[in-house]
Amino acid sequence: MTYTTAPSDSFKPQASPSTWLGVMGGGQLGRMFVHAAQAMGYKVAVLEPARDCPAGHAADDLICASYTDAEALARMGAECAAVTTEFENVPADSLSALAQQSFVAPSAAAVSIAQDRLAEKKFFTECAQRSGVMPAPHYRIASLADIEALPEALLPGVLKTNRLGYDGKGQVRVSTREAVRVAFDAMKGVECVLEKMLPLAYEVSVLAARGANGDATVYPIAQNVHRDGILFTTTVPGPNVTPECASRAQAAALEIIHRLAYVGVLCVEFFVLHDGSLVVNEMAPRPHNSGHYTIDACITSQFAQQVRAMACLPLGDARQHSPAVMLNLLGDLWFAQGSTKPREPAWDAVLALPGANLHLYGKDDPRRGRKMGHVTFVAPTLDDAIRRCESACRILGLQP
Ligand code: ADP
Ligand code: MG
Repeated sequence: MTYTTAPSDSFKPQASPSTWLGVMGGGQLGRMFVHAAQAMGYKVAVLEPARDCPAGHAADDLICASYTDAEALARMGAECAAVTTEFENVPADSLSALAQQSFVAPSAAAVSIAQDRLAEKKFFTECAQRSGVMPAPHYRIASLADIEALPEALLPGVLKTNRLGYDGKGQVRVSTREAVRVAFDAMKGVECVLEKMLPLAYEVSVLAARGANGDATVYPIAQNVHRDGILFTTTVPGPNVTPECASRAQAAALEIIHRLAYVGVLCVEFFVLHDGSLVVNEMAPRPHNSGHYTIDACITSQFAQQVRAMACLPLGDARQHSPAVMLNLLGDLWFAQGSTKPREPAWDAVLALPGANLHLYGKDDPRRGRKMGHVTFVAPTLDDAIRRCESACRILGLQP
């Protein structure tokens, strides 16, 4: 699904290969971005405070500094024709500073909406005028008086910090007003949002991309399973997703990306409720874990798409060529039951499965809950891809 609008004001002449691109952040998303950019002939600079980082090992230049270091930002801006981010909590002021020297995509304005759950929900509510897809009923909590006044209908609910939450961190399930008080207190009084607990049938995400000229495209809808707040598997096409749900979610994601005048790859997460209704949850202003399957199963990966968008090149074809299941590989897999000494999982057995594509992020310190890599299974049918992933789970000692 693709549609075109008038070119945005930010249109710049296309950068050519052999120029430099920059990425804020040195994690695995940055690393996969570096790989995609280098495959197209670009040189890549990474700005990240930690010297030993997944993207830094692959980058042509690692600028080792804090994300707010003015000298480092000036160096990045001088070196790179265009700059992007691989994590959403990049200081928006740093993106604004970079924008004085380079083309920054996505913009500081778009990223700062995604950093603030309340601003994000307000924005989603505006988008719903056209898409009809609303966020969960919610309420801002910044003081004890707010808790006194909170509408009873929002309980039971989920109390989330307004900023800096990820992988289920910074959120607590609450069923009474007293529980909200305790949870708010434990969050040390930072601004929070209370969301009504919704009856989820399943969760989906939609990757969209928009170019500097206003063209946009959307990937197939992905169905996500989380465990302990962390993405466990992504299955595409989603086995429970109806065509009607898929097209509503894709249209909602396109409405969001156009209304933001966004440039780059954006991921929008949705809930599907037991009655079939669709609720928009949150957005990530970058390639996303649930889009890793695109590397092996789509014509243009989400990382190659990010390169095209920021370099003002035409967007690539987002079509999926093979059914796929992506399994996240957390540090837990390195520890046999009861052992504290890590050992390498049985990759030889996993890679003996047909259609297996292993991606490891070059982290040599496995810890429980840490994202170490992922494996994507592609197959001629979705059932085959699911079965191959189940076999991998058994090899790795995971409950499928
Ligand atoms: P994070 O930034 O940690 O990904 P999310 O808002 O996506 O935060 O919440 C993490 C997970 O918690 C969701 O994927 C979903 O499984 C569950 N969750 C969050 N909000 C709600 C809600 N309002 N109702 C039911 N489940 C929720
Ligand atoms: Mg989420």
